Amino acid sequence: MILQRTAQVIENVSLAERTFRIRLDCPEIAAAIRPGQFLMLRLPGTSDPLLARPFALYDTVLDPSGTPVALDVVYLVVGKMTGLLAEVKAGEPIELWGPLGNGFPQLEAEHGVCVAGGIGQTPFLAYVRELLGTRGYAGQRPRKRVERVSLYYGVRTASLAAGVEDFQAAGCEVHLASDDGSIGERGFVTRLLERDRPAGPFVGCGPEPMLHALTKLTASWKAKCYVSLETPMACGFGVCFSCVTKVKTATGWDYKRVCTEGPVFDADSLVVG
Ligand SMILES: Cc1cc2nc3c(=O)[nH]c(=O)nc-3n(C[C@H](O)[C@H](O)[C@H](O)COP(=O)(O)OP(=O)(O)OC[C@H]3O[C@@H](n4cnc5c(N)ncnc54)[C@H](O)[C@@H]3O)c2cc1C
Repeated sequence: MILQRTAQVIENVSLAERTFRIRLDCPEIAAAIRPGQFLMLRLPGTSDPLLARPFALYDTVLDPSGTPVALDVVYLVVGKMTGLLAEVKAGEPIELWGPLGNGFPQLEAEHGVCVAGGIGQTPFLAYVRELLGTRGYAGQRPRKRVERVSLYYGVRTASLAAGVEDFQAAGCEVHLASDDGSIGERGFVTRLLERDRPAGPFVGCGPEPMLHALTKLTASWKAKCYVSLETPMACGFGVCFSCVTKVKTATGWDYKRVCTEGPVFDADSLVVG
């Protein structure tokens, strides 16, 4: 069930260059959401921007008894809404609705590999905890599903790397790459992946060219790969059809809505180009 709420901002703190973590006091959505799902956030009292914007769950926040009480979202300032969001102070209201989308697959494997580019690391923190069995989501008990999780994370430059300590603290092995070599290995994250050649399965999130490269690489390894798409969307719950992507069918291809049938797709099922 999709819940719509007006939540108070608990904090809105800087994590990296133009990157912030906003914490929202919203126990009902925090109790219902699982990794890979997302929320629509809207600034109340304004018609500019009028439309809400989609953001992945970064993680839920638990009270001392283990009950989910709040939600974290990590966002990069790129335009109008995210620019205004960065100005929001603790105590102010944000409109939101969710949980939205299908969420990540419940992998069972020795080594799960998350591959992120740009701001694409945001959906993976909760997933790492779910896979390692340190946290349960949406009322599920924690259960260990993988022995190890790695995050391969590529950024343009060191100042944009956000949340690396959170991933390490969650027990994830973090492998960094940057375009200019200012953090981790110089070059694309897919090159780093190619060098290490972990067995997978793989789950990717980031810019389209990176997802294409990842899909090609994992297909050549005959490894399972899922991708989470960040297609712009207006409603988030399947009504407006502004976020469609092409998916293979038995007879050719069809459009699927990223908001409801995604945002996570089997990489093999997507029509590239
Ligand atoms: C399922 C999902 C989850 C997401 N999770 C996160 C997240 O956790 N953190 C985060 O920072 N962002 C996330 N995004 C992207 C986020 O929704 C956009 O950055 C946001 O909508 C930008 O709003 P804006 O008003 O600031 O920018 P706008 O003023 O709307 O646009 C600014 C510029 O960015 C471009 N743009 C806007 N959205 C996108 C996009 N999705 N892809 C490529 N270019 C775009 C526009 O074309 C324009 O050039 C997610 C998107 C989806 C679909």
